[in-house]
Amino acid sequence: MDREKIIVIDFGGQYNQLVARRVRECNVYCEIYSYKTDIETIRQMKPKGIILTGGPNSCYEEGAPSASLELFKLGVPVLGLCYGAQLMMHLLGGHVCKAPVREYGKIEITVDHSSRLFSGVQDKTICWMSHNDYIENVAPGFRVIAYSDNCPAAAVESVEQGLYAFQFHPEVLHTVEGRTMLHNFVYAVCGCAGDWKMDAFVENTVKALREKVGDGKVLCALSGGVDSSVAAVMLAKAVGDQLTCVFVDHGLLRKNEGDEVEEVFGPNGPYRLNFIRVNAQERFYTKLKGVEEPERKRKIIGEEFIRVFEEEAKKIGKVDFLVQGTIYPDVVESGLGGESAVIKSHHNVGGLPDYVDFKEIIEPLRDLFKDEVRKAGLELGIPAKLVYRQPFPGPGLGIRIIGEVTAEKVRIVQDADAIYREEIAEAGLDKEINQYFAALTNMRSVGVMGDERTYDYAVVLRAVRTIDFMTAEAAEIPYEVLTKVMNRIVNEVRGVNRVFYDISSKPPGTIEFE
Ligand code: GLN
Repeated sequence: MDREKIIVIDFGGQYNQLVARRVRECNVYCEIYSYKTDIETIRQMKPKGIILTGGPNSCYEEGAPSASLELFKLGVPVLGLCYGAQLMMHLLGGHVCKAPVREYGKIEITVDHSSRLFSGVQDKTICWMSHNDYIENVAPGFRVIAYSDNCPAAAVESVEQGLYAFQFHPEVLHTVEGRTMLHNFVYAVCGCAGDWKMDAFVENTVKALREKVGDGKVLCALSGGVDSSVAAVMLAKAVGDQLTCVFVDHGLLRKNEGDEVEEVFGPNGPYRLNFIRVNAQERFYTKLKGVEEPERKRKIIGEEFIRVFEEEAKKIGKVDFLVQGTIYPDVVESGLGGESAVIKSHHNVGGLPDYVDFKEIIEPLRDLFKDEVRKAGLELGIPAKLVYRQPFPGPGLGIRIIGEVTAEKVRIVQDADAIYREEIAEAGLDKEINQYFAALTNMRSVGVMGDERTYDYAVVLRAVRTIDFMTAEAAEIPYEVLTKVMNRIVNEVRGVNRVFYDISSKPPGTIEFE
């Protein structure tokens, strides 16, 4: 099946995934590739359009990320954004240099309505800008279609060449009419039909999975999180009882979570899946003994996971496929798509370790963003309560315990987290805050309780508001709620004498701690 698609060429901009998500919100499939991707590969993908992202460099500097001139001659419309706009001008004979006045933040631009990109857009509209350089002279054949006070070429186009460039970021929601502009590019300029819809995706994927699996046996790694749950139900629809779900309780789950997962996906749950629960807590704790470094912990947990599955697979007999709930941001953040630096390794991305003897890994959600996974989940009839669960990392509490993981620390963080979740729900904040959890700092400090000296751990509470989990702000939880949580934690959880609230945003923090 040839799905129409737009490709995003990534120059290291912080909004690369946002660009792709906005395009998909227009019902057009979109993928991200590094600027290093060669032109032949791009041509073979037959994109309907190409979008160049922003980036931290200055395009006129030696060694700055660049593009082949052929990219602009493929006969495919190209839209450059910020760095991408500057690079396009630079390569095609315009002049880009340091701007006399740099622009950052919400800036008003005046647009020329004769450009198709601005149809339906107000004369004056607010855009998100973030640049030090600017387009001093546009390249031959281009005309200016928008300007701001300090930016004479805020948008340019050459309709004959099918080339378009914005100095601002339409993908950022602060650009009030950015969606309209991207919609115009995708439909009016690229001529997309808009065939990227979740109901069709689910139907096609189920069909494709059925064909691929044939009468093979499938083993699904079920964590109880949204991604693996959606993947499991999708496979169950495709191949029924050829699927066995293995749920590894690695002892790093939230309080009571193991039982909750079993209730839903176990033999008595609504899906009646072949379900095996492996209680592997001790195994994981032993492996993690003495390990403090976050990336090591992630690797160990990931590898141990695969080993446990391998053993279960052997017990089941011959298994052909292993299903994982990898999603698109995992792929991009692992440095496999796009240009983003490897920030954290994802144990479920990157192919098969050589000691695994499954025929193949199936990742039915590998192309989806989180909001798309949720839509697919609803499409599959999974209850909304499950579909809208908070994200929970694969390595679980292992990376919410800073430093060495022990059974004792797991108990502390589980209990503290359960109290925190209870109180957030009690205060009616659970729908408003996108992700919240307790973590355990590796810090012990002196306290006093019942007139006695204590030397105990500090728990840290995290709560963020975010739309896409790429950037986030700390939620402003009412002080009395925080106080109540603190009180309950120090009273009810043995081993804790202090509670912190983390007010950091992402960036510079991440949402999780490790
Ligand atoms: N680095 C370029 C500039 O400062 C582009 C910035 C961007 O893409 N956001 O102008």
